[in-house]
Amino acid sequence: MPDRKPKRDDASGPLAAKTCAACGRTMEWRKSWAKNWDSVKFCSDRCRANAKGKAADQGAELEAEILRLLALRGAGKTICPSEAARSVAAGEPFEPLMEPARAAARRLVAAGTLVITQGGHIVDGSTAKGPIRLRLR
Ligand SMILES: [Zn+2]
Repeated sequence: MPDRKPKRDDASGPLAAKTCAACGRTMEWRKSWAKNWDSVKFCSDRCRANAKGKAADQGAELEAEILRLLALRGAGKTICPSEAARSVAAGEPFEPLMEPARAAARRLVAAGTLVITQGGHIVDGSTAKGPIRLRLR
């Protein structure tokens, strides 16, 4: 039996990961955040900027649309984030809304509402590459 304990196993300690309030990605603790980790909400200046004004309104709209589309589709079914992007774009090019739609999905994952899947398996939205699908938890 190995007798070694992990150096740190307290998930509530300063090394506990958080979720960015804008992009929904996991933020790993950094030394530069040591003094104010409890108040860190965003992973980057870009995300801080995205959390207000038009980008924030659009993000909220995308979250609502993802939930609406999933409710329409029915229990256990999935959608592609592009469906929400197209819907919110309302005839305008939807491509600029793709990353915001994926961010909205990651926030909903962090809120415990959704899971992100690839090939039917639940994946980590912070690191998933390529097409993803969304399903209600
Ligand atoms: Zn972020």
